[in-house]
Amino acid sequence: MEFQFGEKEEKFRSEIREFVKDNFPPDYFGHLFDEEMDDDAWDFAMSISKKLSQKKWLTMSWPEEYGGTGASTWERVVFGEEAGYWGIPGISMGISGTAWVGPSLMLFGTKEQQDKYIPSIAAGEPDGVWCTAYSEPDSGSDLASLQTFAQKEGDEYVINGQKVWTSCAHRARWMWLACRTNAEVTKKHHGLSLFIVDMKSKGLTVNPIKNFVGGHVFNEIFFKDVRVPANNLVGEENKGWAQLMTALSFERGVAITFCGRARRIFDELLCYAKEIDIFYKPEIRQKFADLAMDLEAAKLLAYEAAWKDHMGMTVIHEPSRDKANFDILLEKLTRIGTNMLGAFSQLDPLNKDTRWTRVKGAVEHLYYYCIGMAIAAGTTFTQKTIVGQFGLQQPKSY
Ligand SMILES: Cc1cc2nc3c(=O)[nH]c(=O)nc-3n(C[C@H](O)[C@H](O)[C@H](O)COP(=O)(O)OP(=O)(O)OC[C@H]3O[C@@H](n4cnc5c(N)ncnc54)[C@H](O)[C@@H]3O)c2cc1C
Repeated sequence: MEFQFGEKEEKFRSEIREFVKDNFPPDYFGHLFDEEMDDDAWDFAMSISKKLSQKKWLTMSWPEEYGGTGASTWERVVFGEEAGYWGIPGISMGISGTAWVGPSLMLFGTKEQQDKYIPSIAAGEPDGVWCTAYSEPDSGSDLASLQTFAQKEGDEYVINGQKVWTSCAHRARWMWLACRTNAEVTKKHHGLSLFIVDMKSKGLTVNPIKNFVGGHVFNEIFFKDVRVPANNLVGEENKGWAQLMTALSFERGVAITFCGRARRIFDELLCYAKEIDIFYKPEIRQKFADLAMDLEAAKLLAYEAAWKDHMGMTVIHEPSRDKANFDILLEKLTRIGTNMLGAFSQLDPLNKDTRWTRVKGAVEHLYYYCIGMAIAAGTTFTQKTIVGQFGLQQPKSY
């Protein structure tokens, strides 16, 4: 791997920091899922999406014809790092217009679908907010076993079934849906298809699921004879598995943003340790050194995946490798952070404005959410299975 950030990238980094200074309260640090859970945070996030779009940063890596700037891999890396570090909200357009719905439509969508759905994502408009419905009560890691069925009837599909853990469905305008379109298959990975579903469709019910701290991120979704125009099928009918894997690899490519986020929490913890005068203790230094080494290694791995992409190499298992690595690192950061904060780390993560709050509430927030992050987009075990198969050429697990 050979790279370095040039003058252009460093200038861009300064511009993002200026943007944060101009548009965020001093000392701002947005936490994961704030925007899904809280109406005011959601409105703020959408206002930021709009501003990012006006600066052409929201979808900067997209080609110009789709509302991007064709930014280089390294500019995209800088944006990801800074967005994670400062906790910039509104960068995803739900779950997730920017990271995988738009890019997947560019690869597999029809011209009509591209014209209809991509511009509102790039413009940061409410009409460009998506949710992603893959998981079902009996299909999570074993995603290919999903049963929600879309039956072709004339120029429509009629959908019946249930999805669960659908993040942001209560805010989304559109759903990116994985469905079965053929049940008579010898292999469950065949007979799957991707669809775009209007969240206002008749027969679609979205019920909130409160998470264990009482926040509303997830939903369960019921389909009762939901009619979808046949031209909302994305790509080829029954060939959805390959497209799904591509979309999932976009979803797992979060390492750069996580590098920024973890680095910020590390920096805040370091300030705190100095403030309360414990940094001189050898065991505390050891912990920080340990974390700093892991963070540096994780960053270099994430850079390597970006570099391969930049060089036009096919990146297959690397996003899974980096996601698994971060699942473990975030848990370690949380453990060290809670040890350091003691009882201050056990506050209500939904109530960050108390006189007891330390480190901007980041540690207690991570304490509750790092578990979920190690499950979302495929569990750590699932990521390691992918690394085994595609990175180490082991036999398929199915
Ligand atoms: C924060 C969060 C956000 C989410 N958002 C969405 C969303 O927006 N849309 C959506 O569709 N889904 C979403 N999900 C659901 C998520 O994709 C699933 O929870 C995940 O894929 C795991 O599936 P499961 O819950 O059914 O667990 P299971 O698949 O039942 O797994 C249970 C345990 O068994 C292990 N396991 C399973 N199979 C194997 C195997 N073959 N080898 C070794 N170990 C195995 C798993 O690693 C896990 O530890 C979200 C989940 C979380 C936590």
